[in-house]
Amino acid sequence: MNARGQIDETARGLVVTDSEPRARWSRRRVLRSAGLATLGTAAGAITLNAIAPALWPQTAPVDLNDSYWVAALPAAGPALQASIDVDVAIIGGGLTGLATAYYLRTMDPSRRVALLEARACGNGASARNGAMLLASTADRWMIASEQPELDRRIYDLTVDNIGRLRALAARFGQDIELETRGAAQTLNDASQVGDARALARRLTEHGIPLEFWTADEVAARLGTRHYAGALFDPACGQLHPGKLVALFKAAAKAVGVEIYENTPVHAVAEDHVVTLTAGAGLKVRAPAVVLGTNAYSSRLGYLQNDYASIVEYVGITAPQPADLLAGIGGPTGIPFNDSRLEVYYLGPTRDGRLRIGGGPIGYVFNNGATPQPPPAASVAALARELGRIYPALGAIAFERTWAGAVDYSRDASPAVGRFGRHRNLYYAIGYSGHGLNLTSVFGRVLADLVLGRDDHWQWLPFLNRHPPYFPNEPFRWLATRGLAGFDRAFPDE
Ligand SMILES: Cc1cc2nc3c(=O)[nH]c(=O)nc-3n(C[C@H](O)[C@H](O)[C@H](O)COP(=O)(O)OP(=O)(O)OC[C@H]3O[C@@H](n4cnc5c(N)ncnc54)[C@H](O)[C@@H]3O)c2cc1C
Repeated sequence: MNARGQIDETARGLVVTDSEPRARWSRRRVLRSAGLATLGTAAGAITLNAIAPALWPQTAPVDLNDSYWVAALPAAGPALQASIDVDVAIIGGGLTGLATAYYLRTMDPSRRVALLEARACGNGASARNGAMLLASTADRWMIASEQPELDRRIYDLTVDNIGRLRALAARFGQDIELETRGAAQTLNDASQVGDARALARRLTEHGIPLEFWTADEVAARLGTRHYAGALFDPACGQLHPGKLVALFKAAAKAVGVEIYENTPVHAVAEDHVVTLTAGAGLKVRAPAVVLGTNAYSSRLGYLQNDYASIVEYVGITAPQPADLLAGIGGPTGIPFNDSRLEVYYLGPTRDGRLRIGGGPIGYVFNNGATPQPPPAASVAALARELGRIYPALGAIAFERTWAGAVDYSRDASPAVGRFGRHRNLYYAIGYSGHGLNLTSVFGRVLADLVLGRDDHWQWLPFLNRHPPYFPNEPFRWLATRGLAGFDRAFPDE
């Protein structure tokens, strides 16, 4: 600065005085400052993203399942009592873990397989969900991709799996309340009707038998005038999720899987033989470890950039009068989800209850624990939506409400494969709310991979992929908030 208070930058050929037009210097400085600020922000963001896992380690314990489906789960079995060496260790007793264990021992009974569950089998999403048994994957559900042949192959694989579930239930003499009367995606917005009609035609041409329903057909089949139309897939349906978990648990035990419950895994030490620290400091050593930990995986330090753990709430009513239900699809009716990003999904149970889940996206910082019981506002939103769909229900009181975490990947596409320094960790992630059927498809894939039969699944586009990068905190929190805010600002009513 010179004696007259002017900024003297002659060294850089710039002299700025009060008499000179401000724009000449300020434009350049503003651009430079903006550039520096952008660089600084980007560098800060990259650094923060990189150190976030150390700043906010995920230590939250696995929360207890309080859903309606839990009543159908068998009591927890024994916890691990001593350190063991096994051929395959599976962490997590949800449908992924149990199905993988069952198929592994079925394919190769010589392998010693141990499954370690933090609480009781079915503690996670597998017995907290909306009970819709769907074909295909979330990214391809009622969507035509540019790969019709592949879409069809994935569709057939998942429809075939529904048949396998039915056969497994028959083999073990268990009624899992499996009904395949189809499932629908209802249209919230009249502007979606034209596209939906065209989609049904196109997918049917490619061997995926999707039907389009007008608003009148929706009223006749689902008992509501709330929607402009629907897409209907006759191959889908619903079942009792708790009973499906019970079935896979019984099947896994029957083929000799060792199941240890109330045995949380605290640490994974990777090597050619992986060492798990579980329960009260016991060791489980195995040359192959399957992460059946779904939305909890990041708490073990794995897959945190593959998914975000999105909290969803579900409510279920007491059994409703038969005449009321007859008007709204009946007790063996068709489950459906709507067409919004913050999707609602609902359906009747065999004993005449109505369940509804979804709605506004919830997220707890750092993939945190699900709030139990659900916040009053979320329960009120579920009741309001159910009342809008079925005004005849009158004032809605839920007998039970609960929360669960969904492992959403950024592209809603799942992933399954092997990874780790020694390529002996196996994972399945990103079901994105579509896992009730897909978990046992991937259970077979995982069993094959562990047994070295990768060639069976080379065609599967989900094999050994990792979904698009999900940033760490606080960016993940901001992204989920932003997405929810956008959807609320521009809803598809
Ligand atoms: C509210 C909600 C509604 C849904 N609705 C539907 C639907 O209608 N249709 C559909 O297809 N899908 C739906 N889904 C998704 C579906 O439920 C899941 O994709 C599927 O259940 C995932 O199964 P999983 O076995 O991979 O995970 P989970 O069932 O979550 O199992 C993971 C298990 O790992 C255990 N665990 C975690 N960490 C550890 C540890 N460190 N040590 C030991 N054990 C551990 C947990 O206790 C848990 O039991 C829904 C999900 C939710 C939450």
